[in-house]
Amino acid sequence: MNTVTASFDLARFKPEEQEQILSALEFATAAHAGQSRKSGQPFITHPVAVATTVAEWGMDAEAVTAALLHDTVEDTPVTLGELADRFGQPVADLVDGLTKLEAVTELPGMNNEDVRREATNENLRKLLLASTADVRVLLIKLADRRHNLQTLRYLSPESRRRIAAQSLAVFAPLADRLGMGQLKAEIEDLAFEHADPERYQEVKSLMAGVARSSRRYLERIKTEINRILAEAGLEPISVEARSKHLYSVHKKLAKVDGDITKIYDLVAVRIILPEVSGCYQAMGALHQHYKPLIYRIKDYIAVPKPNGYRSLHTTVFALDGRITEIQIRTPQMHDEAERGLAAHFYYDMFKTGAGYRSGQASRLPAGLRWVASLSDLVKGGSSDTVSAAELELFRDRIFVLSPKGDLYDLPEGSTALDFAFAVHSDLGLRTMGTKVNGRMVPLDTRLENRDMVEVLTRKEPQPNRDWLGFVQTTTARSRIRGWFRAASREVNVATGRRLLEEALLALGYKRLEDVAEPKWGPVLDQLHQPDLESLLACVGEGSLAVANVIRRLAPETVPASPPRRVVRRHGTGRIIFPGGHLLHALAPCCSPVFPQPIIGYVTRGSGVTVHRRDCPNVPAEPERLVHCRWEVAASEDERLVIRLELRALDRIGLLSDVASVTASRQLNLGNVQTTSTSDSEGEAVAESTLRFDVEVPDLVALTDLMRHLRRLPGVLGVNRIK
Ligand code: MN
Repeated sequence: MNTVTASFDLARFKPEEQEQILSALEFATAAHAGQSRKSGQPFITHPVAVATTVAEWGMDAEAVTAALLHDTVEDTPVTLGELADRFGQPVADLVDGLTKLEAVTELPGMNNEDVRREATNENLRKLLLASTADVRVLLIKLADRRHNLQTLRYLSPESRRRIAAQSLAVFAPLADRLGMGQLKAEIEDLAFEHADPERYQEVKSLMAGVARSSRRYLERIKTEINRILAEAGLEPISVEARSKHLYSVHKKLAKVDGDITKIYDLVAVRIILPEVSGCYQAMGALHQHYKPLIYRIKDYIAVPKPNGYRSLHTTVFALDGRITEIQIRTPQMHDEAERGLAAHFYYDMFKTGAGYRSGQASRLPAGLRWVASLSDLVKGGSSDTVSAAELELFRDRIFVLSPKGDLYDLPEGSTALDFAFAVHSDLGLRTMGTKVNGRMVPLDTRLENRDMVEVLTRKEPQPNRDWLGFVQTTTARSRIRGWFRAASREVNVATGRRLLEEALLALGYKRLEDVAEPKWGPVLDQLHQPDLESLLACVGEGSLAVANVIRRLAPETVPASPPRRVVRRHGTGRIIFPGGHLLHALAPCCSPVFPQPIIGYVTRGSGVTVHRRDCPNVPAEPERLVHCRWEVAASEDERLVIRLELRALDRIGLLSDVASVTASRQLNLGNVQTTSTSDSEGEAVAESTLRFDVEVPDLVALTDLMRHLRRLPGVLGVNRIK
């Protein structure tokens, strides 16, 4: 037993904490007596290894104690009550969280991809639930997974592949999101070896070659960098070379068609300097000697990555013109980059003795506060929000700025409107327009990293139901839904009427009242609605799809002519915006035609309305006006007209998504037909089919368009038809 206690340093703990840790070690050793790991070693070696990692991460005595005990409840007759009596409730709660996680991470039958994904999501849900009650559970679980991967070779090939795949899918991204760069790399390489042994060996020997050929070079450049820094009066703590880890080389190779010479950061030089100001001076000094690749200069100190990562990066033409990446940071930044959340605990919480439990989540560093916001989502309850939250966690993040320079962290693909909701839900609901980098853009504009986003608001909330068709974040979606759900019945009835009348236009009815009274009877019966008003309220609230009503009202009718708003042919011209294509429609008041002078007005949520320049209805709001002009369209016979069929789950905004995908490629869409099917009760999710013509210049554009259409939410398939 003495050999295992010696594996980590107890000196930093208070005497009574040391006592508790040793007593837990004794307790766990007794509980696991006679059990062994697949490796043949006594079982206790596993909890000791996990506790050692947890201790090395600088976590507190409760966490170390819980790590020692983490498998006792799962694998031995020990109960949580006993643990609470002997080691206190907080330790018992940690073990409880870990035991629950264990139960779900070891689900059988995970070789089938669908089953695996589902099980993984279920896992994640538990993982998040457990961790947000006490985020230490997450860290101990990661330490546990790390040791299991280190000893994976003793398991059957089947289990190895399963655990390795799960580690790559769940635990490595989790470590990354927690800013634990070193752990992420470690988990990835350990798992990579077992998930794809052949590829692993390939990449490994590739990298061995790189290391051999660059050893000399790196020695030379280190010497030279030291000289440059000394001349600038800087004293680095260290200048070292590090190689990219194997799994990230493997991932990157896929992006450069397997050409390893195209990866510039295979080997990078890392400079550690005591002061932040020194980091900037060092970068300046290096740029005086080596020409940098402008687009690869990254200041993650001023603008940290969403997971809190801070460092300066630059890629320069160094000795012999060789392209070399250099990373510059302080020791604390380095520690945080390697240890992430664990480092923050070490610096902030461990020192102040503050708790780790939820409630203190606000003490998390800005880059990691999402851990706390996730818990809000998870507590929200519905499985819908949970899976969305999981998605957000594992999607890549972008960061964007408010005009005041505040940093917001959003999932990749977020729109300008998502930003408004991220700032404040009230702001989101009152959004009237958005500016990105000073220019008016439609609300559904996808944001890029470092965009500066400004939100123009109105006094009262006035969300648009179409927003649900393009917002990407859970927050935005649930706030918009919530608003409509809470909206009064009158508002829902009015909205329902508007939506239905829009659809009825295609059937030749201008108003609801134009539909003969007796026609409604069977529709109301089939949809279990007492009267027309209730039906409209359901449509307005979003619980009944418009297509579902239309299909019952006029099953024989398929709209013969396209709804006007998706047809984008205006006389003989097309409308061009100087900053790129915007979703637009012609103003009904003045109906401009080619070649009358025109001007665009940015509407709330539905793109730009194009008026004649002399139209008296153009609002006098200069900040919302955008320039546009006519462009003579390519002659008809130069373009191919292709008929496509798109099948999708029926949802609000599908048509406008399709229109916006085609419009953003400057393609014309026309002759749209919609049909919709659902099960006999009409209550399950309806499926709808859109058929439409699209004019494309060539087949490359067609393929590109089809690929993007397939990516729209809910789309089941896109095909060419005759
Ligand atoms: Mn374990």
